[in-house]
Amino acid sequence: MDKTEITYTDDNGHLVVIMPGVVERLLSYRQISPVSLEAAGVLIGERRENHVVIHAISEPGPGDVRTRSTVVRKGRHHQALVNKLHHASGGTMNYLGEWHTHPERFPSPSNTDKTSWQREIMSEELMILIIVGQSAMWCGKKLGRTTSALKAC
Ligand SMILES: [Zn+2]
Repeated sequence: MDKTEITYTDDNGHLVVIMPGVVERLLSYRQISPVSLEAAGVLIGERRENHVVIHAISEPGPGDVRTRSTVVRKGRHHQALVNKLHHASGGTMNYLGEWHTHPERFPSPSNTDKTSWQREIMSEELMILIIVGQSAMWCGKKLGRTTSALKAC
């Protein structure tokens, strides 16, 4: 199967492009097995005017607390990767949002997700949220206090 990028859009034609290498890593954490745990990390990439390109993610590691249906991203390596790529890119790569998995085929945000996004993602800029399900991905945007789903192109 060819590696391919995935693109999402909103009603205003703004695009969120997830690069092929990132898609591959995200899909590798799908909770297909009955014993696989939730996974989470941060999204890293660049903003080009009103478009967003996701080039990298952080992945589960030491310090993270994972169960079948919960995940708390506590590891220090997540922020360390954001810092590293930010410096290496001369400032074009930045923290863009969060991803995690759900043990369901077609995922949608839980009440816990909505609450934690409101509490923990503080930015005046457009932020991206991804949930990786067993059969599909959910991608949303957060602008101010409003979170809304994006459509796959
Ligand atoms: Zn969730």
